Amino acid sequence: MPTVAVIGTGIAGLTAAHVLREAEHEVHVFEKKKRPGGAIRSERQDGFLVEHGPNTVRSSTLLDRLIAEYGLAEKRLTPTDAAGRRYVVRDGRLVPVPSSLREAITTPLLSARGKLRLLAEPFQPKARASDESVAAFVRRRLGPEVLRYAVDPFVAGVFAGDPEALSVRHAFPQLWRLEQEHGSLLMGALRSRSSSDTDEDSRSIFSLRGGLQALPNAMVQSMEGRVHLEAPVRSLRPTGEGWRVEHGSAGGAPNRFEAAVFAAPLHALGDSIDLDVSADPSPIRNVRYPPMTVLALGFRREDVAHPLDGFGVLVPSAEDDVRILGAVFSSVIFGNRAPAGHVLLTVFLGGARHPDSFKLGDAALVQRARSDLERLLGVPSRLGGQLSQRRLRKRRGGLRRTGRTASPETTVTFAIFDYRSSSVSLRTIRQSPLVNRHSQIANCR
Ligand SMILES: Cc1cc2nc3c(=O)[nH]c(=O)nc-3n(C[C@H](O)[C@H](O)[C@H](O)COP(=O)(O)OP(=O)(O)OC[C@H]3O[C@@H](n4cnc5c(N)ncnc54)[C@H](O)[C@@H]3O)c2cc1C
Repeated sequence: MPTVAVIGTGIAGLTAAHVLREAEHEVHVFEKKKRPGGAIRSERQDGFLVEHGPNTVRSSTLLDRLIAEYGLAEKRLTPTDAAGRRYVVRDGRLVPVPSSLREAITTPLLSARGKLRLLAEPFQPKARASDESVAAFVRRRLGPEVLRYAVDPFVAGVFAGDPEALSVRHAFPQLWRLEQEHGSLLMGALRSRSSSDTDEDSRSIFSLRGGLQALPNAMVQSMEGRVHLEAPVRSLRPTGEGWRVEHGSAGGAPNRFEAAVFAAPLHALGDSIDLDVSADPSPIRNVRYPPMTVLALGFRREDVAHPLDGFGVLVPSAEDDVRILGAVFSSVIFGNRAPAGHVLLTVFLGGARHPDSFKLGDAALVQRARSDLERLLGVPSRLGGQLSQRRLRKRRGGLRRTGRTASPETTVTFAIFDYRSSSVSLRTIRQSPLVNRHSQIANCR
């Protein structure tokens, strides 16, 4: 039975382990921390249910299968109807993102000129370069206003990244393909929609009643001693037959494996894991992970002036006097996130836009968030007699993959939890410096 070491118990590592075990591989998973789940972390406090990482995930065949196999189908929570609306800030005010053609025509999010430029998209020439930044791509195809008020806030919300620095081919492969295959995003989207048989439900977002942490917990539980917590991997060295993995497991886990799947953040390869390979690992180490801080703030409902009738709000960088990246109306999306009469807002700060906010102390961070929330949502910003803040939780270093992805030739094999393309997938199982027996696991795709 082939033996595989998986590094990291985030959803990528655990999914890799699951798929490999289905293919009858002997798998050991190593995790640096006490708790499995990586970025996925749910916590209850004072009647609030806080997600430190994802608030929702998107359905896919594999994710739905995992949920069912781990007995979590009954805990599945779909968002309330109110969460259908999304907001973007323009000129200091929340503007709904259009959800129909009619709304798109009348929306104040884009000027008349911006809308006309958008309609000219099918007439723009196809890219000649083999890759470009997200910003250059969107400016060229859809115009600068769409970049500023649609794509830039979306990129901040999903990657905490900078559209000028992200590769469009890697961050938005679907868009890149639409241009390559159809010469136009709008025409390509129309054609794909008419030929697509994907039903709406299968692409829906959801969470779990007690929080998403239940999934990694259940996956670890099923692995009967094959998941080694508090067992940081310190070095990865190729041997003639496979890999030698130095780890901190006290439980007698093996060190020699025929293959390794790397599912920890890439910067760990430079920081804490000694990677002994002949290939140049610098493209991997150069992938940036901008620091992000997440604040979970609870308020009495009556203290928030805005109707909070939506999923949340994203802030474009053009709105430079607002310093938060956005906020998710967590207790509007799922009713069980806050006690009766209260609301839970999850606020994101930092990212590539304001990396300095990582250095702020707790009080300054909260003050920064609350003064923006006061202007945008009418939430009282001052602490005092009317204090309605019930819960504060700060997460430093909520890091997401961003920056240009390492080139395929030097990519270390790692499993990607690919929430953007609606799948939890082992997308990058291919020959690489870390897998010299890749053919044994290639059939696990
Ligand atoms: C604040 C935030 C909000 C998000 N919101 C959403 C959302 O709403 N929807 C969505 O789909 N996605 C969201 N994401 C993204 C999603 O959570 C991540 O893409 C996904 O969880 C990453 O999983 P992963 O397994 O690749 O990495 P991680 O979850 O980062 O797991 C990596 C694991 O490797 C471990 N590790 C590191 N070094 C070592 C070592 N030396 N030895 C052993 N183990 C090591 C780490 O401790 C960690 O457990 C969000 C992410 C964040 C941070």
